[in-house]
Amino acid sequence: MIRIDNTMNMKQVHQGRLPVGVDLLEGLKEYCTEKGITKGMVRGIGAVSQAHIGYYDQVKQTYFSKVFAEEMEILSLKGNVSLKDGEVFNHVHLTLSRTDYSVIGGHVMPDTTVFVCEFEIIEFDGEKQYIREFDKETGLGLWIK
Ligand code: ZN
Repeated sequence: MIRIDNTMNMKQVHQGRLPVGVDLLEGLKEYCTEKGITKGMVRGIGAVSQAHIGYYDQVKQTYFSKVFAEEMEILSLKGNVSLKDGEVFNHVHLTLSRTDYSVIGGHVMPDTTVFVCEFEIIEFDGEKQYIREFDKETGLGLWIK
């Protein structure tokens, strides 16, 4: 059974670069808020000078996270845009490569610092708006309807 199943049309594609030293999540949120983007998908490449990434423990229903205070390449930034508590919310995952070429990744937390981030945001069109609300089954803020 598919819980959420909607078809979205693309409105437009935004392309940009975040400034050096900005917090990744804050930078994306500021961009989306300024442009009025409330739904869409996000992708990007670049590099970070620090990453704070986590994973969600499904039994304990809480995030565990770790700060990697090192320079790394953003091999893949992937995420989406929706609304949570009336504000733009970017849910973003990163795949990063370290200086030894090994790869780590996870759910992006605050205090992930951009060195370079070239991104595209594919903004969706139409009336439908995804809104995140607390989901009792998972303990996460999910699209409920
Ligand atoms: Zn996540």
